[in-house]
Amino acid sequence: MSQEWNIRSRGHICSFCQKPLVDRAPVVSALKETAGGYERFDCHPECWKTAERDWTPFSQWDGVYFAPVKEEKKEPLKKEDAGELLRKLVTLDDPAMKNVVYVLAVMLERSKILVERDAREQEDGTIRRVYEDRKNGDTFVILDPRLRLENLGEVQQQVVALLSGTKTLGEVAKEEEGDGGDAPKEDATETPAPDEAADAKAD
Ligand SMILES: [Zn+2]
Repeated sequence: MSQEWNIRSRGHICSFCQKPLVDRAPVVSALKETAGGYERFDCHPECWKTAERDWTPFSQWDGVYFAPVKEEKKEPLKKEDAGELLRKLVTLDDPAMKNVVYVLAVMLERSKILVERDAREQEDGTIRRVYEDRKNGDTFVILDPRLRLENLGEVQQQVVALLSGTKTLGEVAKEEEGDGGDAPKEDATETPAPDEAADAKAD
């Protein structure tokens, strides 16, 4: 199943009064859970206050609206790649990649590209975090797999390998599947690459 619906772009007109949002002015954003996923609302703070609603938002936050800039200065290549990689991964929705997706989102948050807007604990105990792209306002709903600290380093290495192009998505997905979730891999059935073997011994 495609998880396209976990990405929602920010609107440029108010969801309630349909008038344009004002550049650099406060905006209220909300996600409404629907049968098919999420519906996104962006609106003037006054409209949010006064509009009649018969629903409770899954998530809601205050932000600042930035009108799209026509000619943007190019960001350093790596940052763009990271954002693009996240978009690709969220769209792919491969359960084997859930750790990678989450760690990448956290890395993008630390480099101030994303901002966390909300965190929702689900009935099954998992947490869904809502991240917003600071620049274009797109939101990503991302599952927090509650990674254990000892697994974090390994996942970070995979993310770095993806960004630097030394590993493909397919290779990382295979590794993650082989891990069988949280258990550290002792008996890898595949022959590890020399550097991985060295890592295992150092463990
Ligand atoms: Zn409005």
